[in-house]
Amino acid sequence: MKTRNISLPFLTFIPMNLPPLRELAHGLVHLFYPRLCEGCAKPLLAAEDVLCISCDMKMPETGYHNIAGNETEIRFSGRVPFSHATSFAYFTADGLLQHLLHGLKYQDKKEIGGFLGKRFGESLKQADWVSSVDMIIPVPLHKAKLASRGYNQSMLIAESMGKVLGIPANDRVLTRVRDTETQTHKTRIERVNNM
Ligand SMILES: [Zn+2]
Repeated sequence: MKTRNISLPFLTFIPMNLPPLRELAHGLVHLFYPRLCEGCAKPLLAAEDVLCISCDMKMPETGYHNIAGNETEIRFSGRVPFSHATSFAYFTADGLLQHLLHGLKYQDKKEIGGFLGKRFGESLKQADWVSSVDMIIPVPLHKAKLASRGYNQSMLIAESMGKVLGIPANDRVLTRVRDTETQTHKTRIERVNNM
């Protein structure tokens, strides 16, 4: 069977009013490798990002930022001084959020960090106390972990939150001096103490 090289004529006939080549190439990549929803693996629409609308609506958000004395505040109470504490979403084993975080941490899917930060930022905007926040500080990674992963997933989330909220994110304020990230076998109290 004969194969024809169509790339040259295709490129030759691009009219000037079409999107730039880079965008066109981007579209072509998606034609052959469509972006898939991280929740249900169906192809995403152009306006969708990481999750399809249907999966996005299933995000188990807590809404804690609007609730004084919420579960997160109760858990941190007496451990560290704080004005407000909140958690974005409920985490359940094998749930949507665990799947997203696994992709972000272990499968190099950095776009999930941007997505989560944007979603969290948009929710947090509703809380009046957020306007008094000066800086977003992500949980630091130990430098050995940062070197092997190549990015701090918390910083990706923080930067994206910061863009939505108009608050700078800074990953140079806190340093992790002990490589304590892999301690999933420990209890929550042991993990906090170990840090
Ligand atoms: Zn989906």
